[in-house]
Amino acid sequence: MTPSHYDFLVIGAGPGGYVAAIRAAQLGFRTAVVDEHTAAGGVCLRVGCIPSKALLESSQRLVAARSELATHGGIAGEIGLDLQAMMKRKDRVVTTLTRGVSSLLKKNRIEHIQGRARVGGADGETRTVVVTASDGEQAVRARNVIVATGSRPATLPGIELDGDRMGTSTEALAYDAVPERLLVIGAGYIGLELGAVWNRLGSKVIVLEYLDRILPGTDAEIAAAAEKIFRRQGLDIRLGCRVLGAKVTSDQKACLVEVEGTEPIECDRVLVAVGRQPISDGLGLEEAGVVVDERGNIQVDERFATSAPGIFAIGDVIGGPQLAHKAEEEGMACVEGIAGGYVHIDYDAIPGIVYTEPEVASVGKTEEQLKEAGTAYRKGTFPFRAIGRARATGSLEGFVKILAHAETDEVLGVHILGSHAGDLIAEAVAAISFGASAEDLFRTSHAHPTLAEAIKEAALAVHGRAVHM
Ligand code: FAD
Ligand code: NAD
Repeated sequence: MTPSHYDFLVIGAGPGGYVAAIRAAQLGFRTAVVDEHTAAGGVCLRVGCIPSKALLESSQRLVAARSELATHGGIAGEIGLDLQAMMKRKDRVVTTLTRGVSSLLKKNRIEHIQGRARVGGADGETRTVVVTASDGEQAVRARNVIVATGSRPATLPGIELDGDRMGTSTEALAYDAVPERLLVIGAGYIGLELGAVWNRLGSKVIVLEYLDRILPGTDAEIAAAAEKIFRRQGLDIRLGCRVLGAKVTSDQKACLVEVEGTEPIECDRVLVAVGRQPISDGLGLEEAGVVVDERGNIQVDERFATSAPGIFAIGDVIGGPQLAHKAEEEGMACVEGIAGGYVHIDYDAIPGIVYTEPEVASVGKTEEQLKEAGTAYRKGTFPFRAIGRARATGSLEGFVKILAHAETDEVLGVHILGSHAGDLIAEAVAAISFGASAEDLFRTSHAHPTLAEAIKEAALAVHGRAVHM
C-alpha cells in the first residue's frame, strides 16, 4: 500500500494538536491528525477542562440553590441530588464539543486518523509515521510531524491505581455515587477543583498536601486567602503530609492511606492528583533522534523544533504550564513558524485559573518571584466586598492584587481571588501583553457596576489612591 503523503501530520487531537492542524490547513497545507481516541479534543475535552467545569458548574448551582436562593427571596422545596442526571449533562456537554472539533477538522479538510501513532524513519524530505488501529496498520508520510501527545496522570510509589477506587481525575469525573469519604492527594488544580465538586455533593473530603501551602506556584498571599475560604467550605486540607502508600483493604470495604507520622486514614475512594507526566514514551522518538529529558519532556527550541529534522513538539509533552490555552498558542505558533512566520509566545502572559468558587486567577509574576529577582515593585490590592456589583450578587469574597514596577509602573503580575476571576483576568493578560502600566489600567474606563471595577481600584491602589476604600 502506498503511504498517504501530507505536509503536516499532527499526533494528538488535543487543544495543541487540533489547533495546529487547523492553522496548517488554513495556510493551505495538506494536513492529517492522528489520535488513539475516536473523539477529538484530547484530554481537555474528554476527561479534563470541559467535564470538570461542567461538574463544577452543576455542583455550585446545587450549593447556591440550597444556601443562597432563600436570601434572594426564592422559595423551593427540598433540594436533592440526581447524580446520574448531573453526569449525563456533563457527558452531553463533552459529546457536543468533541463532535464540534470533529466538524471543524472536516470543514478544514483535515483527515482525522484513528489509531496509535509511532514515528518511523526519514526518507529525503519526508518521515514515516505508522498508525496502529484495531483494523490494522497504516503508514503515513509527512514533511512535518508535530507531536502533541499531551500528558497522563502521575502517581506515587506505594499507590497502585486500579481505575476505580484508587483513581485519578478520570475516575473522579465519573463516580457513580457520592463517596462518603474521599481522600485527595495533592492540593493543586485537580485536587482543589474535584475536591470542591465532591465536597459540594456531600462527600467528606480530606486533601493531603506534601508542601506547607496549597497551589504551589500561585502568589502565596492569594493562595493563603483561598485556603481559608476552602477550609470554611468544608475541605479538610492537611498540609505537610507525606503519603507513603495507599491500598484497598483486603475485605474490599475501604481504602487505607498511609501518611508519615500519623495513623493511616480510612476512606472510600482515593483521588491521586499529584501532577501529570508527558506522554513521550512508545512513540519511537528515541530511535528518531528526538531528545527527551529525564522527566519525559520533549526538548524543543524556540520554534518548537526537536533535535530530529522535521519533528516538532507542542503542548503538555514539552513541559511548562500544562494548560490547554498554552498548548493552543504553541500549536498555532509552531505551524506559523514552519510556514516561515514569526514565532513568539510570552509565557509571562499565560494566565492560570483554578475554577473553584471563588476562582483563583493569575498572570505574570508572583510577589515571591519579584522578591527573589530583586525587582523593585509597588503593590495595590482591592477587596470585592467594597465593589457595588459584588454586593448586588452576594459574591463578596476575595480581592485583586496588582504588582507594578516601582519605577516604570509596568504591570508585572495580577492575581485575583474572587467570583469570575477567570474572566476578569483577561484584562490583565492584555495589559501585560501590551506592556501597560498600572496608570494605563486605572485610566481605562471600567463599566459600573461590574466586578472589573476591582481591577481599576487595585491599579489606583498601586498609586495609593483607591477611591472606594
Ligand atoms: P492532550 O489534550 O493531552 O491531547 C493529547 C492527545 O494525544 C490525547 O487525545 C491522547 O490520547 C493522544 N495521544 C497520545 N499518544 C498518542 C499516540 N501515540 N498516538 C495517537 N494519539 C496519541 N487546562 C486548562 O487550561 N484549563 C482547565 O480548566 C483544565 N482543566 C483540567 C482538568 C483536568 C481534570 C485535567 C486532567 C486537565 C485539565 N487541564 C486544564 C489541562 C489540559 O487538559 C491540558 O493542558 C491539555 O489538554 C493539553 O493539551 P495537549 O494538546 O498538549 O494534549
Ligand atoms: P498540580 O501540579 O496542580 O498539583 C499537584 C499537587 O500535588 C501539588 O500541590 C504538589 O505539591 C502535590 N504533591 C505532589 N506530590 C505529593 C505527595 N507525594 N503527597 C502529597 N501531595 C503531593 O497537579 P494536578 O492537580 O494533578 O494537575 C495536573 C495539571 O493539570 C496541573 O498542573 C494543571 O496544569 C492542569 N490542570 C489545570 C486546570 C485548570 O487550568 N483549571 C485544572 C486541572 C488540571
